[in-house]
Amino acid sequence: MKPKAFLIITAILLLSATASVLDPTAKYLSEAYAQKSKTLKEWVICREKLEAMVDKEDIKTPGFEAAVLQICGKRPVKMAKTGPDLPKADLPFKIDCSKLDSARQSVCKSYIAKTRDEIYPHLREITGTSLSNCYDAVYYKIVPSSPRAGAGGLTNRNRITYDQRYSVDLDHPYDVHELLHSISQCNGALDEHIFHGAIMNAVFVRLGRKPAYDKDSSSENKNRLIKAVETSGGSDLHNKCRAILSEQMAILYFDLGEEAIQKLYRSTISPHPVSQPNKQLVNVWGPSAARVQALLEILKREYKYSFSVPGCGY
Ligand SMILES: [Zn+2]
Repeated sequence: MKPKAFLIITAILLLSATASVLDPTAKYLSEAYAQKSKTLKEWVICREKLEAMVDKEDIKTPGFEAAVLQICGKRPVKMAKTGPDLPKADLPFKIDCSKLDSARQSVCKSYIAKTRDEIYPHLREITGTSLSNCYDAVYYKIVPSSPRAGAGGLTNRNRITYDQRYSVDLDHPYDVHELLHSISQCNGALDEHIFHGAIMNAVFVRLGRKPAYDKDSSSENKNRLIKAVETSGGSDLHNKCRAILSEQMAILYFDLGEEAIQKLYRSTISPHPVSQPNKQLVNVWGPSAARVQALLEILKREYKYSFSVPGCGY
């Protein structure tokens, strides 16, 4: 790493501090240095000005990041505030527990009531999607074992089938995971578990629980998967690339905040990427490539955030 960019900017700062008549750039920098960026918009403008001052290759160096941190401050993170009274569910939630014994019927009742009254309003606000636009009702069916080999739950639009062990038997008996699939099947957002970690984190924190995925484990998983991508191909590669992106989103919940996650998720509904997805992205992601491309573009454009995993097309 060359600390060139950092040195350049530090030199400008020193100059600007001593100059009696400041040129506009130096004046800007000294003001930015004194105040740091309070909003994301200010931070992005500050960073763009610094980017314009150094060579393209220097932007990728840790030295440049250090200079950004010193001059623009940390990227502001905004957690969404929720109103005390989120709107009530706009469609009925039904549950069929006829395959379970009678002692479990009362937990089924509270499971569906909690999912409808305590989870869905948050998911609706985070995703911006009301299920009544797509469905007449949401139907849960709880069964005593896996609905399909290896699956704890299955979602087919508004029909959700759950193994009781992963639904009514949980310590916190309510559903977030399958309901998010149902929402994404309704609005056409990128699904494939990409946003599950980040959005479950947001919902859990709103409910006063610990985040579902912690940042350190997600970072470790991501780094391990990135190494494994080099020797993978076919559907195995696709699975690893999906897992990397989903760990990355869970990390971004902490780095960028809930508001950013809302925006990123929504950018994948009817996506309009500026550029065509590259060949590797299309190879790996198939019909989801445009949605992934839109997501990567907004991350870079609005949050100045990028990550590089060439094997996955990122
Ligand atoms: Zn799932």
